[in-house]
Amino acid sequence: MGENRELKFALERHWRGEIGADELEKTGYDLRVRHWELQRAAGLDFVTVGDFAFYDQMANHIQLLGCEPARFGFLGDEPELSRYFTLARGVAREGDEKSRPALEMTKWFDTNYHYLVPEFSADTNFALASERIFTELAEARRLGHPVKAVLIGPLTFLWLGKEKTPGFSRLDLLEKLLPVYRKILARLCAEGADWVQIDEPILGLDLPSSWQQAFEPAYHRLASANAQVLLATYFSPLKENFNLACRLPVAGLHIDAVRAPEDALTAADWLPAHRVLSLGLIDGRNVWRADLDRILDFLRFERFAKLREIWLAPSCSLLHVPFCAAAEKALDGQLRSWLSFAVEKLQELQALKNAAQENVEGEALAARFPLFAQSRAVRQSRKDSPRVHAPEVAARLAALPADIDRRKSSYPVRRAAQDARFSLPLLPTTTIGSFPQTAAVRALRAAFRGGKTNLAEYTAALQEKIRETVAIQEELGLDVLVHGEAERNDMVEYFGEQLAGFAFTANGWVQSYGSRCVKPPILYGDVSRPRPMTVEWSRFAQGLTEKPMKGMLTGPVTILQWSFVRDDQPRATTAEQIALAIRDEVVDLEKAGIGIIQIDEPAIREGLPPRREYWGEYLAWATRVFRVAASGVQDATQIHTHMCYSEFHDILPEIASMDADVITIETSRSDMELLRAFGNFHYPNAIGPGVYDIHSPRVPPVAEIEALLTKALSVIPAERLWVNPDCGLKTRDWPETKAALANMVEAARRLRGGGK
Ligand code: GLN
Ligand code: ZN
Repeated sequence: MGENRELKFALERHWRGEIGADELEKTGYDLRVRHWELQRAAGLDFVTVGDFAFYDQMANHIQLLGCEPARFGFLGDEPELSRYFTLARGVAREGDEKSRPALEMTKWFDTNYHYLVPEFSADTNFALASERIFTELAEARRLGHPVKAVLIGPLTFLWLGKEKTPGFSRLDLLEKLLPVYRKILARLCAEGADWVQIDEPILGLDLPSSWQQAFEPAYHRLASANAQVLLATYFSPLKENFNLACRLPVAGLHIDAVRAPEDALTAADWLPAHRVLSLGLIDGRNVWRADLDRILDFLRFERFAKLREIWLAPSCSLLHVPFCAAAEKALDGQLRSWLSFAVEKLQELQALKNAAQENVEGEALAARFPLFAQSRAVRQSRKDSPRVHAPEVAARLAALPADIDRRKSSYPVRRAAQDARFSLPLLPTTTIGSFPQTAAVRALRAAFRGGKTNLAEYTAALQEKIRETVAIQEELGLDVLVHGEAERNDMVEYFGEQLAGFAFTANGWVQSYGSRCVKPPILYGDVSRPRPMTVEWSRFAQGLTEKPMKGMLTGPVTILQWSFVRDDQPRATTAEQIALAIRDEVVDLEKAGIGIIQIDEPAIREGLPPRREYWGEYLAWATRVFRVAASGVQDATQIHTHMCYSEFHDILPEIASMDADVITIETSRSDMELLRAFGNFHYPNAIGPGVYDIHSPRVPPVAEIEALLTKALSVIPAERLWVNPDCGLKTRDWPETKAALANMVEAARRLRGGGK
């Protein structure tokens, strides 16, 4: 994105029609030049070409490989860049037959980056169809850089795509795809790339055997291009694919030595000695200064000595970390000194390389290489810092009773207490929390942040918003109301800012998708809650209505998942600290008279490790910390949870083990398919399947919602069915929100009237 998100701003200006393609291309070129210079200045032996994208690297490959889906109806005379943005962003023109939904987007492995999903059908063909990567190679060569070009591997490319027609496997397309890869390799090589890195991160997944078996023949065919290929893996241990990875006919293998140090060691034994082993030693997924002594010790293992050549690298692409920690002038110096963003990671690599080439140790090492001295000082200061280690947090954790994650009674008992307390109708209606974040709402927050309004004025203005939101919900006839979350900019940041242990950068942006970036909080120390965070808003809102007002919190797993998390203790421990802080908030809400409390966990699914083998361990602590957060309340207090992207088919028992009284999930886009799974599984508590898609401004007709609910009723008994949209409404406008909710309430009424 560039140090100051130059790419984002140029893209958005281009999309608004303010700058032409030439100017956008110029921004892209300038960024590449600058980033290559940074790499060379840090002493890297190769710069990487092919990792630059105006939107997404997978989308670049869709064009490079000539497989733009036919459904876009390109005539062939549109400029490449304009087709590219059509793939990425779709064409939306009300009622126009030319309107096309964009390619689907999904998370890149276990990161928060989203890639565009290639679409395949049995008749998909491939061709070398874009010059972009060759142009960029020529640019780098012209600047005198030695080049390692990078491609996403053919098997990973196919794996990450989606079959759009039935009755075929996208793996069958490999035959047609390989000749194009071969051609690309040969050209990259002929045009001066010293190396071509081919990324096959799917080697870290549990692959069906047909996919495993496809690797060897495929890479034998690519070998005939005579390029020096570095096969790159990352994010996850290779396990049963390890021998396969070592056997492939390539010149080198990259291993993520942060996530899979054992693979790196074993590779030293198994990799033929004439191959290059690239060790991903600097963590590309987190923001802490590396422990250079430990890494150097690792590098000095005898067994690496027998290989012809060892490369030092970051564990993965630096796309997943912010640009430059030194630029964070607003952070205090101590905290800043602990951090290493992309620029600092390059410097760490250089220090490692220099140190590895000399035979110095101990004090002499630190004296000779300042970064080693710094790395030691950082470790010491993190270890000694009272802001990292809060004795009361540790003491509380150590003294937790064994049943800290258990509600007082089982669901049926709680249910009876809650029914008596709330007397809700059958098929109760509610929303997921946020209401439209209009320009006016955002202006209120900005004015307060910027010091233009004081706390009293800000509070009064937000209370007015809450009053309006509550009145609208009463008028609509919703059964369980919310306060609307107008005070929140982001569901994690809002809590992070109020909890101890979190810091916020000014410019620590990371690409999420396209021009969108997120600025994850930095979770550096023990977490605790100095004071209540949401209670006053909820208490105020409840005071405005007789209906139950739902309190609204973000859950511990989601807060963890969307932050950069300290690496000096297990994530599970950090999650438990967050859980205790949220638990305190839950209990305080209850004391303030809030009888229904929702704890959002939209990120629980994406936290799953890439390999199934590790799912159990993760799910055990992830579901536990949710229960820890939720279970400090009386039976008559109703706990809800909400999850969006809910591919839960394979983890339903664990979702059930969270024991929320009500779970709201996203099902509207899959036509209630997921709900059937919940039904078959006999999910024991109540469920609110989203009855319409909030991602679209479309207002669903009553009959449509009724039909969905009727379907839902065939698998979930009416006594345990709730009615709600599939996510928060903050991205919508008021008119469509009111219309959609009115239809939703009406659909519920009709079904109740039907006596079901
Ligand atoms: N309560 C949040 C909202 O309504 C939930 C957001 C989410 O699930 N991502 O905005
Ligand atoms: Zn959601």
